[in-house]
Amino acid sequence: MFTMKTKQAEQTEKIGEQLANSLKPNDVILLDGDLGAGKTTFTKGLAKGLGIKRYVKSPTFTIIHEYREGRMPLFHMDVYRLEDGGGDDLGWDEYFYGDGVSVIEWSQFIQDYLPEDYLRITLKRNDESDNQRTLAFDAQGERYTTLLNDLKEDLK
Ligand code: ADP
Ligand code: MG
Repeated sequence: MFTMKTKQAEQTEKIGEQLANSLKPNDVILLDGDLGAGKTTFTKGLAKGLGIKRYVKSPTFTIIHEYREGRMPLFHMDVYRLEDGGGDDLGWDEYFYGDGVSVIEWSQFIQDYLPEDYLRITLKRNDESDNQRTLAFDAQGERYTTLLNDLKEDLK
Protein backbone atom coordinates (compact mmCIF):
# COMPACT_ATOMS: atom_id res chain seq x y z
CA MET A 1 0.00 0.00 0.00
CA PHE A 2 1.30 3.41 -1.01
CA THR A 3 -0.36 6.59 0.19
CA MET A 4 -0.03 10.26 -0.56
CA LYS A 5 -1.85 13.47 0.25
CA THR A 6 -3.09 16.21 -2.02
CA LYS A 7 -4.05 19.70 -0.94
CA GLN A 8 -6.21 20.77 -3.85
CA ALA A 9 -8.22 19.33 -6.72
CA GLU A 10 -5.57 20.25 -9.31
CA GLN A 11 -3.04 18.10 -7.48
CA THR A 12 -5.31 15.06 -7.54
CA GLU A 13 -5.91 15.69 -11.23
CA LYS A 14 -2.18 15.87 -11.85
CA ILE A 15 -1.63 12.43 -10.31
CA GLY A 16 -4.30 11.01 -12.61
CA GLU A 17 -2.56 12.67 -15.54
CA GLN A 18 0.76 11.15 -14.53
CA LEU A 19 -0.71 7.69 -14.08
CA ALA A 20 -2.01 7.90 -17.65
CA ASN A 21 1.58 8.01 -18.94
CA SER A 22 2.13 4.42 -17.87
CA LEU A 23 -1.26 2.97 -18.81
CA LYS A 24 -1.79 0.21 -21.38
CA PRO A 25 -4.90 -1.28 -22.98
CA ASN A 26 -6.66 -3.75 -20.62
CA ASP A 27 -5.62 -1.85 -17.51
CA VAL A 28 -8.29 -1.63 -14.83
CA ILE A 29 -8.27 1.18 -12.28
CA LEU A 30 -10.71 1.10 -9.37
CA LEU A 31 -11.61 4.40 -7.71
CA ASP A 32 -13.27 4.09 -4.33
CA GLY A 33 -14.24 6.64 -1.72
CA ASP A 34 -17.25 8.67 -0.64
CA LEU A 35 -19.14 11.21 -2.67
CA GLY A 36 -16.93 14.24 -3.21
CA ALA A 37 -13.74 12.37 -2.41
CA GLY A 38 -12.29 13.19 -5.82
CA LYS A 39 -12.85 10.09 -7.98
CA THR A 40 -14.12 12.03 -10.97
CA THR A 41 -11.48 14.71 -10.47
CA PHE A 42 -8.81 12.02 -10.67
CA THR A 43 -10.44 10.60 -13.80
CA LYS A 44 -10.41 14.04 -15.45
CA GLY A 45 -6.65 14.18 -15.06
CA LEU A 46 -6.26 10.63 -16.30
CA ALA A 47 -8.33 11.43 -19.39
CA LYS A 48 -6.25 14.53 -20.05
CA GLY A 49 -3.11 12.41 -19.79
CA LEU A 50 -4.48 10.07 -22.44
CA GLY A 51 -5.00 13.05 -24.72
CA ILE A 52 -8.76 13.25 -24.33
CA LYS A 53 -9.98 16.81 -24.71
CA ARG A 54 -13.68 16.17 -24.28
CA TYR A 55 -15.08 17.28 -20.92
CA VAL A 56 -15.14 14.38 -18.48
CA LYS A 57 -17.98 14.42 -16.01
CA SER A 58 -19.45 11.91 -13.64
CA PRO A 59 -21.37 9.38 -15.72
CA THR A 60 -23.85 8.66 -12.93
CA PHE A 61 -26.84 8.50 -15.26
CA THR A 62 -25.28 6.54 -18.06
CA ILE A 63 -23.04 4.20 -16.01
CA ILE A 64 -20.47 3.97 -18.81
CA HIS A 65 -18.89 6.75 -20.86
CA GLU A 66 -16.56 5.82 -23.69
CA TYR A 67 -13.91 8.26 -24.87
CA ARG A 68 -12.15 7.19 -28.03
CA GLU A 69 -10.21 10.23 -29.10
CA GLY A 70 -7.11 9.69 -26.94
CA ARG A 71 -3.97 7.57 -27.14
CA MET A 72 -6.25 4.61 -26.33
CA PRO A 73 -9.92 4.30 -25.43
CA LEU A 74 -11.08 5.21 -21.93
CA PHE A 75 -14.09 3.48 -20.42
CA HIS A 76 -15.23 5.60 -17.50
CA MET A 77 -17.79 3.86 -15.32
CA ASP A 78 -19.71 5.02 -12.30
CA VAL A 79 -21.57 2.02 -10.93
CA TYR A 80 -23.08 3.72 -7.89
CA ARG A 81 -26.57 3.22 -9.27
CA LEU A 82 -26.10 -0.56 -9.32
CA GLU A 83 -25.88 -0.67 -5.54
CA ASP A 84 -29.39 -1.99 -5.08
CA GLY A 85 -29.29 -4.32 -8.07
CA GLY A 86 -26.55 -6.29 -6.39
CA GLY A 87 -24.43 -5.46 -9.42
CA ASP A 88 -25.71 -6.53 -12.79
CA ASP A 89 -23.43 -8.01 -15.37
CA LEU A 90 -23.55 -5.39 -18.09
CA GLY A 91 -20.89 -7.17 -20.10
CA TRP A 92 -18.03 -5.83 -17.99
CA ASP A 93 -15.47 -8.21 -19.43
CA GLU A 94 -15.91 -6.66 -22.86
CA TYR A 95 -14.48 -3.50 -21.32
CA PHE A 96 -11.96 -4.99 -18.91
CA TYR A 97 -10.39 -7.17 -21.59
CA GLY A 98 -11.03 -4.72 -24.41
CA ASP A 99 -8.72 -2.33 -26.23
CA GLY A 100 -8.84 0.45 -23.66
CA VAL A 101 -8.40 1.45 -20.04
CA SER A 102 -11.29 0.96 -17.61
CA VAL A 103 -11.77 3.37 -14.72
CA ILE A 104 -14.50 2.37 -12.28
CA GLU A 105 -15.94 4.67 -9.63
CA TRP A 106 -17.61 2.86 -6.70
CA SER A 107 -16.15 -0.48 -7.81
CA GLN A 108 -17.38 -2.24 -4.67
CA PHE A 109 -20.86 -2.33 -6.20
CA ILE A 110 -19.72 -4.68 -8.96
CA GLN A 111 -17.38 -6.63 -6.75
CA ASP A 112 -18.37 -10.00 -8.23
CA TYR A 113 -17.44 -8.94 -11.75
CA LEU A 114 -14.06 -7.35 -11.10
CA PRO A 115 -10.94 -8.96 -12.55
CA GLU A 116 -8.42 -10.58 -10.22
CA ASP A 117 -5.76 -7.98 -10.86
CA TYR A 118 -6.22 -4.21 -10.70
CA LEU A 119 -4.95 -0.97 -9.24
CA ARG A 120 -7.29 0.26 -6.52
CA ILE A 121 -7.10 3.88 -5.45
CA THR A 122 -9.08 4.79 -2.36
CA LEU A 123 -9.62 8.51 -1.89
CA LYS A 124 -10.45 9.95 1.49
CA ARG A 125 -11.45 13.38 2.60
CA ASN A 126 -9.50 14.02 5.78
CA ASP A 127 -11.52 16.90 7.08
CA GLU A 128 -14.90 18.10 5.82
CA SER A 129 -13.71 21.67 6.01
CA ASP A 130 -10.64 21.57 3.80
CA ASN A 131 -9.32 20.37 0.49
CA GLN A 132 -6.93 17.76 1.70
CA ARG A 133 -7.36 14.22 0.39
CA THR A 134 -5.49 11.01 1.06
CA LEU A 135 -4.98 8.69 -1.89
CA ALA A 136 -4.19 5.08 -1.02
CA PHE A 137 -2.87 2.87 -3.82
CA ASP A 138 -3.25 -0.90 -3.65
CA ALA A 139 -1.83 -2.97 -6.51
CA GLN A 140 -3.14 -6.50 -7.09
CA GLY A 141 -0.98 -8.62 -9.36
CA GLU A 142 2.28 -8.16 -11.20
CA ARG A 143 1.09 -5.74 -13.86
CA TYR A 144 -0.25 -3.28 -11.30
CA THR A 145 2.77 -3.57 -9.04
CA THR A 146 4.81 -2.45 -12.06
CA LEU A 147 2.32 0.28 -12.89
CA LEU A 148 2.41 1.61 -9.34
CA ASN A 149 6.21 1.58 -9.32
CA ASP A 150 6.20 3.52 -12.59
CA LEU A 151 3.87 6.09 -11.07
CA LYS A 152 6.05 6.44 -7.98
CA GLU A 153 9.07 7.07 -10.20
CA ASP A 154 7.09 9.62 -12.15
CA LEU A 155 6.04 11.45 -9.01
CA LYS A 156 9.59 11.79 -7.68
P1 ADP B 1 -16.37 11.99 -6.55
O1 ADP B 1 -16.30 11.62 -7.98
O2 ADP B 1 -15.48 11.15 -5.67
O3 ADP B 1 -17.77 12.06 -6.02
P2 ADP B 1 -15.60 14.63 -7.46
O4 ADP B 1 -14.25 14.50 -8.07
O5 ADP B 1 -16.78 14.72 -8.35
O6 ADP B 1 -15.77 13.46 -6.37
O7 ADP B 1 -15.64 15.89 -6.51
C1 ADP B 1 -14.59 16.26 -5.68
C2 ADP B 1 -14.82 17.71 -5.27
O8 ADP B 1 -13.88 18.10 -4.28
C3 ADP B 1 -14.62 18.65 -6.45
O9 ADP B 1 -15.51 19.72 -6.34
C4 ADP B 1 -13.17 19.12 -6.25
O10 ADP B 1 -12.93 20.38 -6.82
C5 ADP B 1 -13.08 19.18 -4.74
N1 ADP B 1 -11.73 19.02 -4.19
C6 ADP B 1 -11.17 19.82 -3.27
N2 ADP B 1 -9.95 19.43 -2.93
C7 ADP B 1 -9.71 18.31 -3.66
C8 ADP B 1 -8.58 17.43 -3.73
N3 ADP B 1 -7.46 17.58 -2.98
N4 ADP B 1 -8.66 16.39 -4.58
C9 ADP B 1 -9.79 16.19 -5.33
N5 ADP B 1 -10.87 16.99 -5.29
C10 ADP B 1 -10.85 18.04 -4.46
MG1 MG C 1 -17.78 10.87 -9.34
